[in-house]
Amino acid sequence: MQANGSRRSISTVEAPSADANGNVRLSAAELEQMERELEQHFAAIMRILRIDPSDPNSADTPKRLARMWVRELFRGRYEPPPRCTLFPNRRRVSGLVVSQGIDVRSVCSHHWQPIIGQCVIGYVPGDFIIGLSKLNRVVEWFSRRGQVQEELTEQIADFLYERLKPKALGVVVACRHYCMILRGVEGDEEQAVMVTAAWRGELEQNMELRREFLHLAGIHVPYDDQ
Ligand SMILES: [Zn+2]
Repeated sequence: MQANGSRRSISTVEAPSADANGNVRLSAAELEQMERELEQHFAAIMRILRIDPSDPNSADTPKRLARMWVRELFRGRYEPPPRCTLFPNRRRVSGLVVSQGIDVRSVCSHHWQPIIGQCVIGYVPGDFIIGLSKLNRVVEWFSRRGQVQEELTEQIADFLYERLKPKALGVVVACRHYCMILRGVEGDEEQAVMVTAAWRGELEQNMELRREFLHLAGIHVPYDDQ
């Protein structure tokens, strides 16, 4: 990105960038530099918002905000992907393996407000099985960025499908979006849960298998009762 005319350039902002839910691998030194610059800019934002910097509750806020965004909320943008240790499927497991209740804690790309909910991942193994804790790590890595829930769901599915090479894979994400709740957009935002799903392999076409997935995931599909 070109620095705009008279505006003073900001060093790391000139460096390569990626979409909010992309990944840019940074060194420890680059992350420290990013944190320092952000702190200065958050202080400027607070001045613009007419927040007295000597207010004891706000004095360290620029530092706290910088640390929180770089080291926590956007951490997945700068870290390498989690290692996915695979094990051989020795017993030729051919049924669905479903992991429910994986926490999703993310922020939306649009407002940088929390997206909070849960994810269910299920797969039919091919030659490999995967440690369940790895599924949580993958969800966390993709969640710690500015996200769009639809894309988050696809990112998780693609990542696992490529590495695990299962016969079938399903990812269902159900979340509350606090940009709606906090702003009180209209109506029952607090009750509104957004549900997204991504299907790979046999789960794309096989509706019987998909029903079994949803049953094992504890997801009730209205109007689907026979
Ligand atoms: Zn939003």
